[in-house]
Amino acid sequence: MKLEIKSIPYGRQTITDADIEAVVTVLKSDFLTQGPAIAEFEKKFAEYVGAKYAVALANGTAALHLCAMALDVDSTTRVITTPITFAASANCVRYCGGEVHFADIDPETFLLDINKVRALLEKHPKGYFKGIIPVDFAGNAVNLEAYRKLADEFGCWIIEDACHAPGGYFMDSNSKEQKCGNGNFADLAIFSFHPVKHIATGEGGMITTNNKDLYDKLNLLRTHGITKDASKYKNSPDEVSQGGWYYEMQELGYNYRLTDFQAALGTSQLTRADKNLERRRTLAKQYDAAFKDSEVVTPSSINGNAYHLYVIQVEDRLGLYNHLRANNIFAQVHYVPCHLMPYYKQFGFKKGDFPMAEAYYDKCLSIPMYHSLSDEDQAYVIETIKNFKS
Ligand SMILES: *Cc1c(COP(=O)(O)O)cnc(C)c1O
Repeated sequence: MKLEIKSIPYGRQTITDADIEAVVTVLKSDFLTQGPAIAEFEKKFAEYVGAKYAVALANGTAALHLCAMALDVDSTTRVITTPITFAASANCVRYCGGEVHFADIDPETFLLDINKVRALLEKHPKGYFKGIIPVDFAGNAVNLEAYRKLADEFGCWIIEDACHAPGGYFMDSNSKEQKCGNGNFADLAIFSFHPVKHIATGEGGMITTNNKDLYDKLNLLRTHGITKDASKYKNSPDEVSQGGWYYEMQELGYNYRLTDFQAALGTSQLTRADKNLERRRTLAKQYDAAFKDSEVVTPSSINGNAYHLYVIQVEDRLGLYNHLRANNIFAQVHYVPCHLMPYYKQFGFKKGDFPMAEAYYDKCLSIPMYHSLSDEDQAYVIETIKNFKS
């Protein structure tokens, strides 16, 4: 008899038979990359988040890089983001040679604090900063209506890093739900389909936008800056060949394409997105209730949270982390603050710069949160946490 010791990670994907069938169908077709499955995934994903356009990409980091390129980030560009995010949110500015600035988080929501961003913007002449990259951290939607007003006041663009929040939303000033990535306020939004995220394609990413010019630019940059659209050719008519082989490379782009079989997997996963999101919200409610009168600080439950992560805060975080590991529960910390990474410290950032972010980091722990987490396994997680004595 084999003894199964189950381990429970903080997040994981599920692949169904229908997912596998969708991938196999594409593998047997004529296109393995940039075929009809990409166009379908883009269309369905744009519909899902309520945006006009979507561009599928190799991963979320490539999506961020192309956003920065499309918004003309260069060595003169200063951009503000949050220290509590995956490094890629900031790195995309560096890929284009720009300067990263951080503002502190709101200790209630863990999101980039708009008042701190305003204070930073007001410290400098208008035009000093060119962009803001707010992150829908842990699945909590940033109030982008407020950010849009602020950004317009200071002539900034907005990239919404919505990797944690497909299906999430905030309530606007007219009490209307505004879905993450719907393009109504941010210039561009990005998503990731890494296996720990809501929708998994192995690696994968998406940019959504309502801006046609940016959309066209992103399409060009995704494939080496090459176009085969005759209406867009820049060479003079006598240089443009009538031959079917002709194409033009107009910008220095990359190969950031997603494959067709990954797109088919994404489309198949997307059909379950709402159901899975509901499950995440149910799990969150169950955690909220379980820890209500304990020393475990639960995240503030805000309408529209997509619950990519469920982040608790505890005094003895290392002790609890090790206790959980010893019981086959693999919690995680999101994130070591970006400004304390050796790479960012070279620009002068140091401990003490962002007290809220650092206080959050000292106590935060992401406990298991994924749609296939069973009630039994969640009960085991809760019991194991409650049994911990530091
Ligand atoms: C996952 C993630 C990314 C990067 O996405 P990849 O697909 O892994 O490149 C960027 N930002 C945030 C907030 C993420 O969680």
